[in-house]
Parts: sequence; structure tokens; C-alpha cells
Amino acid sequence: MPTATRGHVRAAAADDGADAPPHKRQKTESHEGGPALAEREREPERDAVLWFEDASVVLAAENKLFKVHAGVLGHHSPVFKELLSAPALAALEERLDGCPVLRTNDKGASLARLLRIIYDGVQSDWFASGVRLDFADLRRVAIVAAKYQVPAVLDEVKSRLRAFYPTASLQAWRAVVFDDESGADGSRGTLAIRTWDSIAVIGLCRLLKMPDILPVVLYECCSKVSAANLVRGVTCGDELVRLTEDGLLLCLRARDLLVAETARMSNDFIVKPQAGCTSPQSCATKLEQLRFQVINADVASSPNPLDAWIPYTAAQYDDAEKKPCALCADALMGSLEGAVEAVWRRLGEILDLPHWPPNNAGEQAGGDNGVGNAPRAS
Ligand SMILES: [Zn+2]
Repeated sequence: MPTATRGHVRAAAADDGADAPPHKRQKTESHEGGPALAEREREPERDAVLWFEDASVVLAAENKLFKVHAGVLGHHSPVFKELLSAPALAALEERLDGCPVLRTNDKGASLARLLRIIYDGVQSDWFASGVRLDFADLRRVAIVAAKYQVPAVLDEVKSRLRAFYPTASLQAWRAVVFDDESGADGSRGTLAIRTWDSIAVIGLCRLLKMPDILPVVLYECCSKVSAANLVRGVTCGDELVRLTEDGLLLCLRARDLLVAETARMSNDFIVKPQAGCTSPQSCATKLEQLRFQVINADVASSPNPLDAWIPYTAAQYDDAEKKPCALCADALMGSLEGAVEAVWRRLGEILDLPHWPPNNAGEQAGGDNGVGNAPRAS
């Protein structure tokens, strides 16, 4: 088996009907609507850690209070630098514990997490390369870090997302997707992004201006997320995240095109017995059997042309009865590889997205067809 590995087979199987569990009813309104009433009315609560006696300002977010240092926050964020400048603080009327109070419309837990990352620095699990971060955590931090423009935190978000969605080559993408360390739910590497979370990643790509990874994210969304999740959205943390109407249309259209690609490939990639084959009759029969098997199986209608094939070709290699001679088997795998590579190169065209194929990873300006709503930091 040249390319198909255990990981291939397991990942392909795990993706079948990758339905997110039905999303729970939201505990609070989405941040677009501001915190729920109950949240606002709750007694303000001083953060147990982020309350420094020698600090200079109190930040209030929902019912959470943080007594922090204006200089420290300004050092990490140009937005805080301006918000917490001496004149800006002098203009605040509300005071608590001897400090001016700045009220923000952030989610309290999100701001708490960002502040802890800033204060803890390299000691924070955020920057620990061996720690697999949960996507909901990454997303909520990314939203506030984008609002306050905290470069060190944003760089970490982007670097983890780029590692999760490699664009450099088909081989680089496969190495990550089919890593034996990846979870059955799609989590891999340094991030636990479940397959259906790709719906929320699309919005994050817009917020963080990362159109370069969007084709890979959108491919995973279109090929592996159930129609129910595409339409109804997914729960991320305590928030329901949905595609925009345009994004949904684009996904549905792309799904059709991806299915057409798979169907076309199912007919095209199977080779004839090769010149020099010493058992042409037997190989012809085995290859025809494979064609029959592929065309009649679900694979021919899968929206996943990049890796839907693996179980079939793997079976072909594992079963001596089905395996053609080495010469024909190599030609078959080479043909499949070429067909998959061709689809990879045409992803941008199939998904109607610019910036593809990438010549190198990196931020590029440009639109992304408004696939997903960029989340707002409230
Ligand atoms: Zn042969």
C-alpha cells in the first residue's frame, strides 16, 4: 500500500455521516445580541487571579471584573494602549477600589482568557506546542484578540490554524488529515477541531483575513459536514454558529461539483493491464471488478474526491484474490494519485475561490465570496 495507511482507512470511515450532536439550546444570546439579561443582572464578580492591588484600571465585562495594569495591556495591544491612555482613563467617571472602571461589551470568560494569556505569557498553555487546544477556546480568544489587536496571540491562532489546514501540497494536507494521532472526530495536531467545526472556522478565516487556507477549510466543510449541520449550524462553546445564506449556497453548489468530480474519477482512474503484464487476463478481470465495485458503491457519489477512494484501493491491496500484478497495481495507484492531485490543483476553481493553488502560504489580501460571517467581538 504505497499511500493508503491505517490512518487513511480510519479517517475515511470516521467521516461518514459526521453529524454533530444536535446543538444544545444556547445558554445566552449570541454575542451579536449582547449578554443575556440574567448574565447582566448577576452580581459583579472580581476575578480571583486577575485582581492586582497595585493595578491601575478595572475592566468590566458582563459580570466579571478585572483589576489590571494599563501599561502591561498597552504593551501588548495598540487598542488597549489607546483605550487605557492617561487622558482616556481620566475621562472615565465610574471608579472602583481606587481605579477608573472601563466597561467593555466582551464576554467575561473570553476577556478573562485573553488577559490570563497576556499575563501568563510563555507559561500559558496557549503557547505550549504540546497542548492540543479546543477549537471553541481558540475561537473565543481569537475574537477578543482580533478586537484588541494582540499580535502575539493572533500569530499563535494563525499558526495553529495553518498547521491544521496545510495548503502547501496535497501530501502536506494528507500528512495532517491522516496522521495516526488524529482523533475520530477530526481533531488533529495541536487543535481539537471537530469535523463540523469547519463551519465556524470559515467565519474565523474572514475575521483573521486568512483567505489562503479557506479553500482547504471549505473543502472539508463541503465534503465532510452533514447537510443538517450546514443548514442548522453548529454549537461552538455557548454559541450557535451558522453559515451565511451565500455561504450555504456556495457549499451546496460545491458539494454537487465535488460529487461530480468523484463520479468522473470513478470512471477514469482504473487502468487497463499494463504493457509487460504477465497475467493480462487475470489483471483485466480484477481491474474490471474494481471498476464495478467502485461505481456501485457509495464512493461514486461522495463529495470527498480527495480521499473517498482509500478503503477501496486498500481492500484491493490487502486481498490477494483481488490484487492485480505488481506492475498493474502500481499503474492503478499512480493513476489514482494523478487524478486526486488534479482535483487538489483545481480546488479553487471547483470552490469558486481565489488564492489557489497557493504558491506559498501566507496572508494575502482579497475577497472570499462572503462564505461565512466573520464573528464580531460583540
Ligand atoms: Zn498485470
